[in-house]
Amino acid sequence: MHRAFIALGSNVGDRVEMIEKACLELDHANIKVKRTSSLFETTPMYVLDQDTFINGVCEVETSLSPIELLDKLQSIEIELGRKKLIDKGPRSIDLDILLYDQEVFSHERLNIPHNLMLERDFVLRPLCQLIPHEQPPKAGKNTNTYTDYLRALPPPEPTPYSTTPISPHFPSIHATDPKRTTHVMAILNLTPDSFSDGGTHSSTDFTQLTETVRSFIAQGATIIDVGGESTRPGSTPVGADEEIARVVPAIEHIRQNIPEASNIAISIDTYRAVVAEAACNAGADIINDISAGVMDPEMLPTAARLEKSIILMHMRGTPQTMTELTDYPTGVILEVSAELRQRVAAAENAGIRRWRIILDPGLGFAKNQPHDLEILRDLPALRNAEGLECLPWLMGPSRKRFVGSITGVKTPKERVWGTAATVSASVSGGADIVRVHDVKEMSHVTKVADAIYRV
Ligand code: ADP
Ligand code: MG
Repeated sequence: MHRAFIALGSNVGDRVEMIEKACLELDHANIKVKRTSSLFETTPMYVLDQDTFINGVCEVETSLSPIELLDKLQSIEIELGRKKLIDKGPRSIDLDILLYDQEVFSHERLNIPHNLMLERDFVLRPLCQLIPHEQPPKAGKNTNTYTDYLRALPPPEPTPYSTTPISPHFPSIHATDPKRTTHVMAILNLTPDSFSDGGTHSSTDFTQLTETVRSFIAQGATIIDVGGESTRPGSTPVGADEEIARVVPAIEHIRQNIPEASNIAISIDTYRAVVAEAACNAGADIINDISAGVMDPEMLPTAARLEKSIILMHMRGTPQTMTELTDYPTGVILEVSAELRQRVAAAENAGIRRWRIILDPGLGFAKNQPHDLEILRDLPALRNAEGLECLPWLMGPSRKRFVGSITGVKTPKERVWGTAATVSASVSGGADIVRVHDVKEMSHVTKVADAIYRV
């Protein structure tokens, strides 16, 4: 088996879809995609009516020789190009071999390492996410790593942004764009027992549901997180059938009968693969799994197959056991980032591409108050942790226990002001999405915090 790195590029059509199809074709051709970089978007500078490029790199494992690999890549290019473009010049997909083990290969059709790779920001940037500390083959006395080569290049203007696709009707999230706006995710719990809005929203009263969703959108929500089972500390599981019965009709109703929601993303808050699949078939765009694929071994393969973006939250144990699992001897930031790195690796092993991953540190889940506060204070350290760079982050501090204990407010619904401070801190720390109950108030907070911090 050989390890190779392949550059992925597209600037025509649905560029992410092209790249995802190419990765699937690689897998089918026994060129197993082991890991992927983020995808980066570069705004064209000179020819302004040219589409922006999307570039990434994947690591593959293959038994093919270099020339056999090139043949296969070229046949995939033709196959995808012919399907998408009838007689147009520009190709919708470009697949180049960057590296093949540590071999140097020279042939009229093929040069490995790729001739121009060390000069190209759009190659080195994603490659450095995968093998930052490695060196080109035959480096001899030259000790430069790929990261050194990337740092030596003149910084492109504007800086390429990492891009996380959500749906064709929703703007991709650019987690490394310092001017991005924060998404407000409205919580819609169709449960009788959630800790703060249990029993508020009915899964059968569609008139009320329409009104709730319309007001969420009017108040500034861009994502609606639909949940059918409470996961508050000590909650009782309800089972997949009941969960599906609560969420699927509601999602279908939103998709079919609320036109204002057509540009709103729906996420499904579940740790069960069958629920996630039913919800996505009904119109959900994002899977929001508090267990990051731990509680249901089918979750990660299912998310990969559905090709949906997935939120991986940090937790330990289950909602029944998590309150005891709060030991972080080397610090909550280090341990949460290490444990999330393992979940990212598990997701990639299951076939989820890196650009489909969103992270959540899991405020209040297997954490006590100092941990929650440290995460809010040190979110930039999590965002920049090695192996987690360029990923979007969701923060879910809304009405949580630590807010209540600091303010002395016992009733979760009344923790709005305390929540506001946590949302402002989240934006300041670089959150891409905040998950909240008080949509109107927190939309005001994110707007002002964005105006302060996102410049
Ligand atoms: P580009 O990738 O430069 O935009 P093409 O994909 O059309 O353009 O590649 C042009 C030629 O480059 C191909 O026909 C291929 O034989 C050759 N080539 C040389 N080295 C490589 C490599 N490492 N990976 C892919 N193609 C290569
Ligand atoms: Mg090429």
